[in-house]
Amino acid sequence: MAVQQVTPVVCSNCQGQYNAPVNSIINGQDQAMKAAFLQGRINISQCPHCGTANRPDVPILYYDLEKELALVLAPGGLTLDKTTQEKMIGNLTNSLINSLPTEQRKFYLFNPQQFLTLENMVKAVLKADGITEEMLDKQAARTKLIQEFMQAPDEDTLKDLVKTHDEELDYEFFEILTAYMQTANMEGDQNRAQAFYALRAVLARWSTKGKEAVAEIDQKIGLVVLENQEELLERLSQATTDEEIEGLVAAGHGLLDYTFFQKLTDKIDRVSKEGDAASATALRELRSKVLEIKAHHEEQSRIVLERAGNLLKEVLQSSRPDKVIDEKLDQIDEAFFFVLTANIEEARRQGHNETAQALEMIGNLTMAKLQGIDLSQMEAEAEPPAEQPQEKPQIHISRR
Ligand SMILES: [Zn+2]
Repeated sequence: MAVQQVTPVVCSNCQGQYNAPVNSIINGQDQAMKAAFLQGRINISQCPHCGTANRPDVPILYYDLEKELALVLAPGGLTLDKTTQEKMIGNLTNSLINSLPTEQRKFYLFNPQQFLTLENMVKAVLKADGITEEMLDKQAARTKLIQEFMQAPDEDTLKDLVKTHDEELDYEFFEILTAYMQTANMEGDQNRAQAFYALRAVLARWSTKGKEAVAEIDQKIGLVVLENQEELLERLSQATTDEEIEGLVAAGHGLLDYTFFQKLTDKIDRVSKEGDAASATALRELRSKVLEIKAHHEEQSRIVLERAGNLLKEVLQSSRPDKVIDEKLDQIDEAFFFVLTANIEEARRQGHNETAQALEMIGNLTMAKLQGIDLSQMEAEAEPPAEQPQEKPQIHISRR
């Protein structure tokens, strides 16, 4: 049951007034409502004057008869006096109870647990789903540790840090680090991808469990790692089949810049001067093959990403994203998650944390639907999905 009413909203940006629908009672067994609540999309409306997204400060009652959960957001904090607030909560509780058949009017519904912030209330709902604060904290701690390593000013400091945190450098840690590396790579941010790659290599070498963990992860996701342009050129020159060349071009896409082709041309000149006409011809053929494959990849990836981008836009612009996802489930592929991940990273970079969180929840919801499980059974994963689009030309790091 959802009690929806229209409430006047004052825009936090332009102070303009408009009316927006507001849900004040949320049934946790309604997956769409629950998802919207967890994603922080509940009661968000866009100001018709300036486009700002606003959430009116209204109390929200969340209940779940299966989990025997009743929570209430008591907003306003100090701006509302206690009596007014209690009255508002009392009204909500009463209208919920009156809407339920007698046998469902359980005692806990009369005493909802109160929260002052939506964030804490979301945490409580997640906790009832088995996603503890400890799990969320652990995830956050791993991310923080990566940051700490990245900021180490020199090798000695980094070595000391590894020694201190050796116990924490486990499989899950390297999984997150690898996901960071892949995300940067997919976004074409070579500097960050390289930095994560270098960090991962060093941590794998210096930590007790790192080497094994990294090998296992790369095996699982099929990473091909090319260190630099020289290595790529060397391996391309030695490739004997077209498939091999295609694989290397895909894996080394980001290395195939002007400098690379310059190096290839230098090599052609060198063997020509040495009188090795056969090698020169072979290298010239290789050059046109590589250029052709590269152009083909770019076109393919443009088409795939454009399609995924349009789908994501449709999901985001819908008032019922879960419905759109349901309808388009067969169109959701790795490219969709790639575009989603890129958007999350971009939102974070710009400090739009709420947007990033909303996008993450869309990702979680989609994953849950793909796996055919309901949201109450899923784990909260703040990390980007490990699966990456195959169509997207990769840089140094690639799936086979
Ligand atoms: Zn406005």
